[in-house]
Amino acid sequence: MAKLILKNVYKRYDNNKKKNKKQNDYAVNDYSLECKDGEFIGILGPSGCGKTTTLRMIAGLEDITSGDIFIGETKVNDLHPKERHIGLAFEDYALYPPLNVYDNIAFNLRAKKVNEEDIHKEIMRIAPILKVDDLLDSRPVGLSGGQKQRVNIARAIVRKPKLLLLDEPLSHLDGKMRQVLRTEIKRLHKEIKCTTIIVTHDQLEAMSLADRIAIMKDGKLQQFGSPLEVYDNPVNEFVAGFIGEPPMNLMTVDITKQDNELFFDFKGSDVRIGVPKRYQSIVKEGMTVKLGVRPTDLLIGNEASKGSKVKVAVFENLGEERRISIRVGQEFLTLITTEEIRYKQGDIIKLEVNAEKTHLFDIKSGERIN
Ligand code: ATP
Repeated sequence: MAKLILKNVYKRYDNNKKKNKKQNDYAVNDYSLECKDGEFIGILGPSGCGKTTTLRMIAGLEDITSGDIFIGETKVNDLHPKERHIGLAFEDYALYPPLNVYDNIAFNLRAKKVNEEDIHKEIMRIAPILKVDDLLDSRPVGLSGGQKQRVNIARAIVRKPKLLLLDEPLSHLDGKMRQVLRTEIKRLHKEIKCTTIIVTHDQLEAMSLADRIAIMKDGKLQQFGSPLEVYDNPVNEFVAGFIGEPPMNLMTVDITKQDNELFFDFKGSDVRIGVPKRYQSIVKEGMTVKLGVRPTDLLIGNEASKGSKVKVAVFENLGEERRISIRVGQEFLTLITTEEIRYKQGDIIKLEVNAEKTHLFDIKSGERIN
């Protein structure tokens, strides 16, 4: 176990010939992060934002353009991957097909000249934790995706690494198996307490596994916080729109004043809501801002007695909840409710916004402004 520190890490691929990429574009840009000993960290972001590059730099599989990486107290910038005491499991299991599961797990220990008795003890310790004890004689070809990934992870942790790095370990698996293995990775972490970094583009995976999540966009760290922090207090419009399914509604609103009261006026519609107290000293009449509201913080039907009239664009009954798309001016709002209601396209309904649960962002920079 060890803490992990990234200090102002940059990565530029000199061979990056990708269209629309400038010569100076960094795949990872001024990245700083401190993970505590034993913590489970998720690196989350859209495709191409630099997640895998970050992980590969930590592992020593990719050079750092500038900056420093520490594992424990040791600066590892110039250390060979083998000297970093890291366990790695990538999405493609990369097991050796001619070897059975036992020999696959033993492979790296044998390469390190560990004696067979100790290898056996270690495999017998790890195999039940990852539920591969019944598979030790099998060849990879006969295993399911989930079983292969368990063997892959067993192989990564058998050397008692200081740091376990998982790159999209569940992305090849189908829905059910993903869920099962996700729970087992969580249990595994509780059991072995190894500092673990998981790279994923799946927010559910990051939210359910990680103690803290590092959200990236275009090579830059946007926010680093607990799942609850990034959900309840997104630092900018990108994080607000990225975390949460369906995503937060982000609407352009004008600040207007009537009878000395300030309102958020939804552009091109009759919808307006009173500006809550906590924003009164921040916003002024005439400003335009981005207002964020989660689909579950919108009220309709009986819950929206004081609401404005809006038109239903799409109504979907999803069993336990109903998802409604509502046209407001030129934009659409998504609303989720567990109320037993039924609407059809074109119905006029009353909508109320829970103003206390709104988020405010600067219209130009996208930064949170409260
Ligand atoms: P994904 O979720 O799609 O795997 P990612 O967030 O892991 O994406 P990276 O694979 O780290 O992103 O890529 C970050 C950027 O660096 C992208 O623009 C990518 O095209 C570029 N890149 C990655 N590897 C190389 C390489 N070996 N040579 C040149 N450019 C690269």
